[in-house]
Amino acid sequence: MPAKTAAIIGAGVAGLTAALSLSRQGIRSEIFEQAEALKEVGAGLQISPNAARVLDELGVLPTLRSKWVEPESIDLRSGVTLRTMASVPAGKAAAERWKAPYAVLHRSTLQLTLRDAVLADPNCTLHLGRRLDASDIPALTLADGSRPDVIIGADGVWSRCRALIAKSPKVSFSGNIAWRFVLPFAEAPPALPKDRVAAFMGPGAHLICYPLKDGGGFNLVAITSGTNAGETWEKTGEPKRVAALHASFAGWNPALRLLIDRNKDLLFWPLCQAGDGAWQNGSDLVLIGDAAHAMMPFMAQGAAMAIEDAFVLARHLAAADVPDAIRTYEAERKPRIARLRKRADFNRMVYHARGPVRVGRDLLMALRPSHSYMADLDWIYGFEA
Ligand SMILES: Cc1cc2nc3c(=O)[nH]c(=O)nc-3n(C[C@H](O)[C@H](O)[C@H](O)COP(=O)(O)OP(=O)(O)OC[C@H]3O[C@@H](n4cnc5c(N)ncnc54)[C@H](O)[C@@H]3O)c2cc1C
Repeated sequence: MPAKTAAIIGAGVAGLTAALSLSRQGIRSEIFEQAEALKEVGAGLQISPNAARVLDELGVLPTLRSKWVEPESIDLRSGVTLRTMASVPAGKAAAERWKAPYAVLHRSTLQLTLRDAVLADPNCTLHLGRRLDASDIPALTLADGSRPDVIIGADGVWSRCRALIAKSPKVSFSGNIAWRFVLPFAEAPPALPKDRVAAFMGPGAHLICYPLKDGGGFNLVAITSGTNAGETWEKTGEPKRVAALHASFAGWNPALRLLIDRNKDLLFWPLCQAGDGAWQNGSDLVLIGDAAHAMMPFMAQGAAMAIEDAFVLARHLAAADVPDAIRTYEAERKPRIARLRKRADFNRMVYHARGPVRVGRDLLMALRPSHSYMADLDWIYGFEA
């Protein structure tokens, strides 16, 4: 029988989107979230049209559009000379080509908008302050004492649900860390444009910058090499780590270096990724989002994939017996995730290139027409979950 009820572990982007997607299919769900309150954690997010399309289906797009920025373009620039080497049109061009907007916003704005939709939906219940470990899952019941038909592990990169699935993916530290800070608009140098996403590339590091309407300034994320710091989303960097960050930007343009050097509120988090492995147990437990396939942010697609996963899974759960539905979901999603991962690995190499490879990269980028960048993104942004 198709599922009628679900328990969802985790109220991140994946878990909240899953509850709304299930509700559209007439499936009742309860979310169990360890945090006592959903508060600001993480940084800005780029939401690409493939994810925006799902958010539109779920009815939250009008609220989000009032809070986010739809940038004119995504510019790839030199971190040394500041020259724009390539510009991928976004804004109107993205909406026309991929039939949904491309936008940037704070992660908490997305999470809280989804939460409000969940709270307003009679098919969804959110339990806060409910941390579930692997040992709690087999005996998990819903508020009425019944066993859920399906359990959805949406508990992020450090998933506890994953331990209950034989041959599930292993998570490892990637060797990169992400540094994040917000720069008030008034303090920003002219090199930072208010109407577009800028990705500054330099040897061994890159810096992404975009305006946040909901954050009162620019979101800046610097990705560098670094050492692991365990299971954490955000940490203040100790002096040795901050010194290593400054060293990573030593040869960069002074305007950008100054931003990093003078910032005292730098937070970082280690970038971890999940390897290949099973996402479901063949009966009633299935992983979505980072719990299944945490990936490097070089394509800015982790949250987008979590959103797609949730929507696709709900569709299958409404159409087939739970064991078949979770197997079909896994089979459908894996090739797309694998292809994205490859693409992110390629971007990592391109963004952080050094020496002659960097020179070659800059030349090739300058020669490539912008419509060819757009065509190259069709399979990602044009996807209809
Ligand atoms: C630097 C950086 C930049 C990024 N930029 C982008 C971007 O631009 N665009 C994009 O699409 N993606 C981006 N991502 C990826 C994106 O942030 C993640 O893929 C996405 O947030 C994953 O969502 P999730 O719901 O799967 O996991 P999470 O957001 O980690 O949510 C998991 C939830 O489960 C809860 N939880 C965990 N364990 C338990 C437990 N035992 N019991 C109960 N609850 C539990 C947690 O408290 C949390 O609320 C970026 C990531 C990084 C690191």
